[in-house]
Amino acid sequence: MTVYDDRPWLRLYGRQPGEIHPAHRNALDMFRAGLAQDPEGDAVRYFDGALSRRELDEQSDALASGLLASGFAPGDRLAVYLQNVPQFVVAVIAAWKAGGVLVSINPMSRARELTYLLQDSGATALIALESLYDEVARDVVPDSSVRLVLTTSGLEHHSHPDPRLFADLTRQRHEGTTDLAAFIDEHRGEVPPAATLAPTDVAFLTYTSGTTGVPKGAMNTHGNVVFTATAYRDWARFQPGGSVFGIAPLFHITGLIGHVAVSLLAPMPLVLAYRFEPGVVLDALRQHRPTYTIGAVTALNALLNHPDFTRDHFSSFTSVYSGGAPISPTAERAFAEATGLQLHNAYGLTETTSPMTLTPFGTPSPVDPTSGALSVGVPVPSTVVRIQGDDGADVALGEVGEIVAEGPQVVAGYWGKPEETAAGLPGGALRSGDVGFMNDDGWIFIVDRKKDMINAAGYKVWPREVEDVLAEHPAVREAAVVGVPDEKRGETVKAFVSLKDGRSATAEELIAHCKERMAAYKYPRQVELVDELPKTVTGKILRRELRGGRQP
Ligand code: AMP
Repeated sequence: MTVYDDRPWLRLYGRQPGEIHPAHRNALDMFRAGLAQDPEGDAVRYFDGALSRRELDEQSDALASGLLASGFAPGDRLAVYLQNVPQFVVAVIAAWKAGGVLVSINPMSRARELTYLLQDSGATALIALESLYDEVARDVVPDSSVRLVLTTSGLEHHSHPDPRLFADLTRQRHEGTTDLAAFIDEHRGEVPPAATLAPTDVAFLTYTSGTTGVPKGAMNTHGNVVFTATAYRDWARFQPGGSVFGIAPLFHITGLIGHVAVSLLAPMPLVLAYRFEPGVVLDALRQHRPTYTIGAVTALNALLNHPDFTRDHFSSFTSVYSGGAPISPTAERAFAEATGLQLHNAYGLTETTSPMTLTPFGTPSPVDPTSGALSVGVPVPSTVVRIQGDDGADVALGEVGEIVAEGPQVVAGYWGKPEETAAGLPGGALRSGDVGFMNDDGWIFIVDRKKDMINAAGYKVWPREVEDVLAEHPAVREAAVVGVPDEKRGETVKAFVSLKDGRSATAEELIAHCKERMAAYKYPRQVELVDELPKTVTGKILRRELRGGRQP
């Protein structure tokens, strides 16, 4: 018997549903129910184009049939390396119809990162944006397990490209690849055999480094996806006739659940804008008048701070959530003042298939007077959140410890990594690596982090990966990477580097070295050259000292 058995947060559910009852066995059934309800309704809206649910059904039938005809088998992995384009949604549904797993790859990934993700997931098929194939995937695919490459310009459903946005898109065909639209046309009219998808089958492999530095594929099952989509639907009070605005990147769990899965379940159109470009997003808000979104507070702030922003841009919204990164009480107030809307907080991890805690609809999150932290909400219904001390025992309410979650949204484990699964998900409970406490009413507050992760505008950076890239530079003896406060990104990446005797390199050279080899959000924005890195007697780098900005 522990303090958490009382579940103090239950009192805070108020008018929110206290239990989540998913109506579907798997995520494909969510789509099918929406299709039956309103086949001609828009599934995706993209600039001036739209894809109806019927078209999405037909295109995904054709793609799934084509995949199966090309040797893709149930349980196989289909990787997508795309921006926020309608073809992403077609790929999701097709992967499930073929009985497979969708592997979502960050479109910012460079060759080194893509190589690892394809290798680790063992993906046999890849759908890539032409420009990304051209720049990055072309050199990586031959050494991977990928046998079928389909490329798309991302423009098939788009009537007038905005040159600001599409400057990087090419329309070249490459040898060894097939045009996605042509592939779909070739298989149009074919219907794949009905896939049997159990709630325990994996729907998405989403890559995260979790609490350790190694990227791992979190296995988000169909049961996880149906549960979290239902949780958002029930708590965010979707309105009939509403639509979802896709502000977060679709590859991330926030986009996969908070945008794609939710839009399938509701069913509501999903409005996409290729990638986050504040001016273009504001235009899309005005054009499509969406009612619900979830995104990083930094993205929302970028909209509010844009010269074209007016209160009217947000006037169609009824619920807005911020997730993926901390919100300060000041940012929450500024959002409310600028838009007249409450910014609800959503806290979760890739491993909790998005939400673990949410601010109850219409109830302001309290601020902790001691730490100044804004609460991340209360546990999602049917979920138990515990705060544990170093010994693994629950601490009392108000005491600080590691946030641990148990519930229907916690992933089945990490793909092909039983040891990491046992360490990060002991007994199926997720150890978040976030440090916080629960107050007497059940509100959760995050005050620190156990893991070394850096949270740059919701994008997660693990020091080890950046340190490994720095160590490959011929002049570098040792490097230590930490997060330092940044006004715009919340945190930014800073490297402390010591050089080998007799070698030289400037900070700018080292930054350029990293920039070339990793996704744009990861490379260090600051490099400080030092003689020695601060270490413990056992040789462990004292990151805390570096984070504090103290000179070693
Ligand atoms: P990811 O796996 O990329 O979703 O990252 C999960 C991590 O993001 C968590 O462990 C937290 O450190 C951070 N995070 C997510 N949502 C929030 C939030 N609402 N407030 C503060 N930190 C958050």
